[in-house]
Amino acid sequence: MFRGRVSASFGTCGAIPISRPIPIMAKKTAAKKAASKKATEKTILTKSSLDFLERYLNNASPTGFESAGQQLWLDYLKPYIDTHFTDNYGTAVGVINPTAKYKVVIEAHADEISWFVHYITKEGFIYVRRNGGSDHIIAPSKRVNIHTEKGIVKAVFGWPAIHVRNGKTEVTPSLENIFLDCGCTSKEEVEKLGVHVGCVAVFEDEFMVLNGRNFVGRALDNRMGGFMIAEVARLLKENKVKLPFGLYITNSVQEEVGLRGAEMIVERIRPDVAIVTDVTHDTQTPMMNKIQNGDVACGSGPVLSYAPAVHNNVLKHIVRTAEQEKIPFQRMAASRATGTDTDAFAYGAAGVPSALISLPLRYMHTTVEIVQRADVESVIRLIYAAVKGLKAGTDMRYLK
Ligand SMILES: [Zn+2]
Repeated sequence: MFRGRVSASFGTCGAIPISRPIPIMAKKTAAKKAASKKATEKTILTKSSLDFLERYLNNASPTGFESAGQQLWLDYLKPYIDTHFTDNYGTAVGVINPTAKYKVVIEAHADEISWFVHYITKEGFIYVRRNGGSDHIIAPSKRVNIHTEKGIVKAVFGWPAIHVRNGKTEVTPSLENIFLDCGCTSKEEVEKLGVHVGCVAVFEDEFMVLNGRNFVGRALDNRMGGFMIAEVARLLKENKVKLPFGLYITNSVQEEVGLRGAEMIVERIRPDVAIVTDVTHDTQTPMMNKIQNGDVACGSGPVLSYAPAVHNNVLKHIVRTAEQEKIPFQRMAASRATGTDTDAFAYGAAGVPSALISLPLRYMHTTVEIVQRADVESVIRLIYAAVKGLKAGTDMRYLK
């Protein structure tokens, strides 16, 4: 979710044939553990989809440098689509029924927040700039990967020891004082590693599963979205659904710096309807303010936004779908903007009727973002059913 503005049980969906329960396996990866934890529960996620999720999350995809992640995503999606295309800046679109006149988009964003190398001191320390809404408060003592033409260079955000700080005057981390140490003692040594101003640095934390039902890691915002729309495509293919319109499964770049990829691709596709998915804040944890941020809980299902950019007729269709399919959902009210690609679709291409289905998430823009697997499955089910229930040619205008 874009930081410029802050908006804030399994759905038993009879309509989707359920995959067989995952057999219990004693394998190492977090995804496999997740798959095996509750082997008796019905799930729409398969072993191969969870394997993809883990690879997709562990691959860095900083804003402006998303291509490797987009390739991973396209490779996973290809068996489930008729064709695909990409645009100049790397947004990737899988298409089902490319010749159909009526076009429906399901969309997520591919990029993650990161840091830019900004200034290298003569002693070899590196000061950074934000690439997206990266959080200076959590930076000290984090390990990062600096992406260079010579490959990954490891570094850490250093911080003076507690022993040498003065409790009365100590400062909090800010962009002015956080710095990277890559084990060098001069600017020349840093540069010899391949690091220069403009290289991107990404926290290195990887995917894990907490208590069997929570996915944890960096950049679940919004790689869960790319995963979920790809799963919708998989289910449509596996269940042999024939759509009467073109479906454009869209993974946009550069959301974290202001919805830029979506602004570009909406003009290219010019869809008739767009359903966007992103994450939103769970407000149940300490220090969250429900008066400011609403009452949203991980585990209580997809979150549907009310906002001027959200088209009421698309939203009504989604609400009705959730009720019919018995998928639990929550509501939230955005203010001027949703802070997601929904705004770019709504206000692009002369106005595209758009709606937002959000995945509740804890600790946004940290390296320990948390979502619940049940919510992930419910979002997939809801987008799937909402797409299936759309009719080609539907005129969404308020006044006719
Ligand atoms: Zn974000």
